[in-house]
Amino acid sequence: MANQQTQSVADKHTKLAKELQDVKLYIDGKFVDAEDNGTFENISPFTNETMNNIASGQAADIDKAVKAAHKAFKGEWGRMKQSERLDYVYKIGDLIEEHVEEIALLEALDTGLPLSQTKKQVSRSANNFRFYADTVKSQMYGETYQVDDEFINYTVRTPVGVAGLITPWNAPFMLETWKIAPALATGNTVVLKPAEWSPLTANRMAEIIDQAGLPDGVFNIVHGFGETAGDALVKHKDVKLISFTGETTTGSTIMKNGADTLKRFSMELGGKSPIIVFPDADLDRALDAATWGVFSFNGERCTANSRLYLHEDIAEDFVAKLKQRVENIRVGDPLDESTQVGPLIKTEHYENVKSYIEIAKEEGCEVVSGHIPEELSRGNYVAPTMLLNAENDMRVVQEEIFGPVIAVMTFKDEEEVIEKANDVEYGLAGYVWTNDIKRGHRVAHAVESGMLWVNAQNVRDLRTPFGGSKNSGIGREGGYYAFEFYTEQKIIHVAIGDHHIPQFGI
Ligand code: NAD
Repeated sequence: MANQQTQSVADKHTKLAKELQDVKLYIDGKFVDAEDNGTFENISPFTNETMNNIASGQAADIDKAVKAAHKAFKGEWGRMKQSERLDYVYKIGDLIEEHVEEIALLEALDTGLPLSQTKKQVSRSANNFRFYADTVKSQMYGETYQVDDEFINYTVRTPVGVAGLITPWNAPFMLETWKIAPALATGNTVVLKPAEWSPLTANRMAEIIDQAGLPDGVFNIVHGFGETAGDALVKHKDVKLISFTGETTTGSTIMKNGADTLKRFSMELGGKSPIIVFPDADLDRALDAATWGVFSFNGERCTANSRLYLHEDIAEDFVAKLKQRVENIRVGDPLDESTQVGPLIKTEHYENVKSYIEIAKEEGCEVVSGHIPEELSRGNYVAPTMLLNAENDMRVVQEEIFGPVIAVMTFKDEEEVIEKANDVEYGLAGYVWTNDIKRGHRVAHAVESGMLWVNAQNVRDLRTPFGGSKNSGIGREGGYYAFEFYTEQKIIHVAIGDHHIPQFGI
């Protein structure tokens, strides 16, 4: 019976994969093969079979795309009135909204993320375009500085030029829109290098932008590997900024490689975020948040609360309840709406996450895992896992695992937990649960992270700065903070009186 079920679910994936066309690059308004006709295979996380072939861009393709983007920036797009430009941005948002179901299905098929979760991400993606169009309209303004009756000095913002966007596979469509929307809304042109493990919805984005009728060259996609296509984008002299989301080590390599062509970088990097639960918290809600925060998106989530610090007075009870949740989490077919955890994106990543579970055992953790139904043996499934008796100096507490794995620790008092929470190289997010208002603020201030939630799960407010401190990132995106990155500020000094000008040579 289990075998029959396996076959029928796998058949569904195979059937959908057969309907997929091969993916081309999108350069200067056309879908094209790579110059050298190279391709790579796109593998299903569920069946581990090849789904389709993807054009594999190299330096020559990047150069072609950058030239097209540069031409568009100097041409029609650069000269376009803001309102007309923003109409295109709204239109992209509308087209995404019209296709949420279809894009969410492609994303689930390609990444193994559960369909119910990709639907939410795709809806948010549509909203990103509307939000940035609105924000440019209402908040992209300059400042004036009056100097007595001698000068009026004022600032203007102009787009930077060709924006190179490099994105990861963990929430691919949403994270791409997070960069494309502000880049276009502020008037830049774009070359996107999406993650090689999740090309399908990036291609769908190209189709949508094509349908929205943006002038040729404004938006380009070069699929391919980081070390080839990504590297060429980073090193290209006409690319004026790189917005990167991915691993910390990749971020550092990119900054080194881009240094010779002096460009600006935005770095959204890895995380190992703490969730701290005090005894006076609403423990049921804290349990919901801790469970969702690490096991949603298959645990492949940069802001995952992968380190759980429980006050010793509540630890035993909390752990028992979390165990129950872990055992009950529905691991299943990502295309099934009721699935809560799907397969990890790729065998390499699966092996890496599994190796951390082995390391945890070697380091002395008690490992408690949930269940993977028998019929799912072909996919890259890792059961939701708790690492009990973890200690701060263990690798599984210090390093980003990026899978459905939570390390559990206890603490006695506030001072101790703050020290432990800060004793990692990362500083992306943090979560504090307490009903003591003073302590909530105190701990929120003390935890070293770019973003902190008190008595809340990771609910994003698009107006606020998003980004990490320490090894989790450089710079902030989101809201008008994105203008700092995607625009150049110019100060214009205008004399309105006869200020003193020294007279030389008289
Ligand atoms: P990754 O660093 O392996 O790859 C990210 C992108 O960089 C891919 O497109 C890849 O092809 C490209 N790349 C790789 N080497 C490159 C090079 N030398 N030059 C140019 N481009 C190169 O990351 P990943 O495995 O795709 O994503 C997971 C990581 O992303 C995790 O560490 C996660 O925490 C992080 N992440 C961070 C955020 C955030 O906002 N801080 C959000 C999502 C994911």
